Formats: sequence, C-alpha cells, structure tokens
Amino acid sequence: MGRGERVVPGLWRLRLPLPWPGVPHGNAWAIASGTGIVLVDTGMHGPGSLAQLERALDQVGLRLEDVRLLVVTHAHSDHWGQAAPIVDRAGCELWMHPDHAHATATAGDPAAALARRLEVGRQSGVPEAALAAYAERAKDIPSGIARVIAPDRDLLAGVELETDLGTWTVHETPGHAPSHVCLFQAQRRVLISGDHVLGRISLYFDYGYSPDPVGEFLASLDRVDALDARLALSGHGKPFVDVHGHIEANRARLSAAELRGIRGGRLLRIGRGACWTGAWGEGARLVVRAILLGHRPLEGVRVLAATAPPVRRLRRMLSRGADG
Ligand SMILES: [Zn+2]
Ligand SMILES: [Zn+2]
Repeated sequence: MGRGERVVPGLWRLRLPLPWPGVPHGNAWAIASGTGIVLVDTGMHGPGSLAQLERALDQVGLRLEDVRLLVVTHAHSDHWGQAAPIVDRAGCELWMHPDHAHATATAGDPAAALARRLEVGRQSGVPEAALAAYAERAKDIPSGIARVIAPDRDLLAGVELETDLGTWTVHETPGHAPSHVCLFQAQRRVLISGDHVLGRISLYFDYGYSPDPVGEFLASLDRVDALDARLALSGHGKPFVDVHGHIEANRARLSAAELRGIRGGRLLRIGRGACWTGAWGEGARLVVRAILLGHRPLEGVRVLAATAPPVRRLRRMLSRGADG
C-alpha cells in the first residue's frame, strides 16, 4: 500500500508498492515549494498505481494537483513509469536527463524491445529454446510505463531546483542507468540518490547504451562521495546517514566482482585453448574454474560440450564416414 511520512519539515517520503519479488517498494519524494511541491520520481505505472500515489500524498496532507514540477532521477519504470498521468493531472513540467533512450527508444514498442533483448541473448550464445521460453514469459510482463513522455527540460549537471528547503543541484551519475542523476541540497547536505547509492548494496547496470557502465558508475560514486552528504534519500528503502560508508561498500563489492571477471576471463582463455588443442583434462579444469567464478558460464559449457573427447571421437567417426 502507498504510504506517506515526513522526513524533515517540508520533505516527505512517499513509499509506493512494486510488483517485483525482492523489491517490494520504491520511493518518491515530495519537497515543499511555495504553494505546492516538487515531486521527485513517480512509482511504476499499473492498475491502481496512481491511487497508491494519491493515498501516500493524502497521508501527509498533499494532493496530486499540488505538484508544481516533476523531476525523475532516472528513466526506469519504477521512477518514471507514472510520469505521463502525473503531468496530465497536475499540469506540471517534467525534467529528466536527456540520455533516456535506454527507456524511451523501446518503451513505446514492447515488441521491438523484446526483439532487441532476444538478439543480445542470441549473440551471447543463449540457446534458442531458452530464448523462446523467455519470450513466452516476457509477453505477460507489463512495462510499468503509462506512456512515453519527453522531458520539458534536460536535467543536466548544474541545473538547480528551488524549494522551501533551499536550492537542489543536479549531479549527473550515470552507471545504474545512462539517465541517472542525483540531487543535492548543499546547506543541509541532503542527497536524493535514486538507485545510484541505495541503503543496501545492489549492483545493476544498463548495458548496451554506453561503452563502460561499470566505469561510469565508479566515477559517479567518486562524484557523489565528494559532496560529503550526511543524509541520503534513496530510490528504495529507508533514508540512511552513513553515505560515505555505503559508497565505500559499493566500491569494495564492485572491485571484487571485477577481479573475479578478470581472473575468470584469463582462466577461460587459457582453458579454451587447452581444450581445443587436445589437453582436454587440464583445459576443462580451468574452464570449470571460470564457470565457478561466474565468468561467462554459457561460453564455458559450450567449450566443454564441443571439445569433450567423446564428442571429438564422434566427430572423427562422422568425418571418416563422410570421406568414405
Ligand atoms: Zn533503477
Ligand atoms: Zn529503482
């Protein structure tokens, strides 16, 4: 159920339900601004979702019509999906980062979005049967986006939002999504961190829209760390105070994951070579270690399946048969 609560005078947390396992809620934030509010993020669109937002607003004495300006931290459905009906109802502007193609390019065309995802899977070696099963499931998953809506203003670095709590400055923080921004109120040292820094460590990156989302994410962590925030209002979960500690934990987790990737890559490369050149036992051991590190497990299994001695014997027999 949608729920509203005051964080500090003039700033409210709107906790909105999500239909996702493991992520039951997302946050929107209302900030007093003159006779109305600035709303940051929207919740996901779905049956009854606008009523959930209204319920949360009502609990803190606010209404959808109070929204003077809608700002989104990034164009994921749980933060932007409900933008269109909010703009329709409140008659407000929408501000969002211009690199939103990761969401907007395919949101209006779910079939194209699915086709793109399947093609990425195909090129990564996912078997056709698995892709077909995924496509069957994906058909029934709603997009969570009411309607694609373009921003009235680009939320670029240095853009400022005026509120009763003072001026909030936009900081571009790509990585989790190319369109991600954080908002910072310098006098109070309050950071609206979206999904860039969450209360728990969670690493998710929109691949395929920029060359190095992980590198961008690390640079964005540095950028936000330098702000020295003392309170973070994140896209999911409760507000938290140890902002620097959370940033450090993200860095630590990521470098461990990266190191595993580098090690796994080496093991797979050497193991694959050995498998194909006949040192199958030794090669297979290296490939299995890469798989256990979580490095390109499908590729590893394919190498093992293609080079296993019985398969090679069979291939030799077949080619002899063809020759004869
Ligand atoms: Zn997100
Ligand atoms: Zn989110």
